[in-house]
Amino acid sequence: MPAAAPAPLSPLQAEALRAGTLPPLEEVRHGVWSLTSPATSSVADASYGYVVEGSDGLLTLIDPGWPSPDAVDRLETALHEIDHELADVALIVATHLHVDHLGAADAVRRATGARLAMHPAEHRALAGRADDAVAADADIARWQVPAEAQEALVASWGSGRLLVDVVPDLLLDDGDELPVAGRRLRAVHTPGHTSGHLCLVEPEQRLLFTGDHVLPTINPGIGLGGRTATNPVDDVLASLARVVELDRPGADGLEVCPGHEYRFVGLTERAEALVAHRGERTRDALGALDALLGGAAGSAPVRGSGAAPSVWQVAEAMTGWRGGLRSMTGLPLASALAQTEWHLRAAGRAAHLAS
Ligand SMILES: [Zn+2]
Repeated sequence: MPAAAPAPLSPLQAEALRAGTLPPLEEVRHGVWSLTSPATSSVADASYGYVVEGSDGLLTLIDPGWPSPDAVDRLETALHEIDHELADVALIVATHLHVDHLGAADAVRRATGARLAMHPAEHRALAGRADDAVAADADIARWQVPAEAQEALVASWGSGRLLVDVVPDLLLDDGDELPVAGRRLRAVHTPGHTSGHLCLVEPEQRLLFTGDHVLPTINPGIGLGGRTATNPVDDVLASLARVVELDRPGADGLEVCPGHEYRFVGLTERAEALVAHRGERTRDALGALDALLGGAAGSAPVRGSGAAPSVWQVAEAMTGWRGGLRSMTGLPLASALAQTEWHLRAAGRAAHLAS
């Protein structure tokens, strides 16, 4: 039995999720608010940003959200609700490079004069995206994706992928304190979802801003940023252990302020469920691979004989994809295929795949 999803802390967010509407601005703690950024296409993909007020009255904006034409106007309206102005925003922090978090950053920076901060690995990924795209197109070919699915994969994962074009003013490494007056707000490097993903912890107020590292019901994808020499499966498992270390039992537990869905407590249990999910995916991929190899688990691959299955074949034989692999397209499909390969690599079975 999978662990039950944590209960929403905010009835407003829970109701909005149920109804498919946008949750309103909400005070999380004194001087900390959640904002909602609607996806250009649908309310369902809305993301959360957070405003943190320093003792000098200046604001830090965590994840400005989707790059819609009215993103700055929406932010200004929200800031007026809390008696602030655009010019009060002094710092923008991106948890990661995805368009639903970082997309509006440049427009907000221009409108506010704020500095933009991110992890160096996100900066490298943004700068290296042309090379990454070439490598991703090669992956799609190597995975032996059927022709009819290839175009959408190249558009969402390969050379057609939408990445935000923005250069940070400030780089945040693991352990760095953010320049926020009167508060301790610290960067925690949590690679996995992307290589430079950051969580931000406010230890005194027991808040953890998790971006897409930990969400209450969604199992976040992995390896969805720049390419690295490390395996995103190993990275995310280590990063889940990292945030569990920050948690405490009982009433002192961290309140999770995620990039989507709703706020909750029970970080340790949710992180454990995400670790278990990775274990299930590994077993699923290994079972499919062994079945395709004719039960020859652990035997040496026969290169060039046609015996080594492709990533596509293994992924298609896996049972854990909601709706089955054939129902997926675009980014979810690319993510599923990449995960299949990474899980097999992490289990030491990459040599059994067609290369
Ligand atoms: Zn997101």
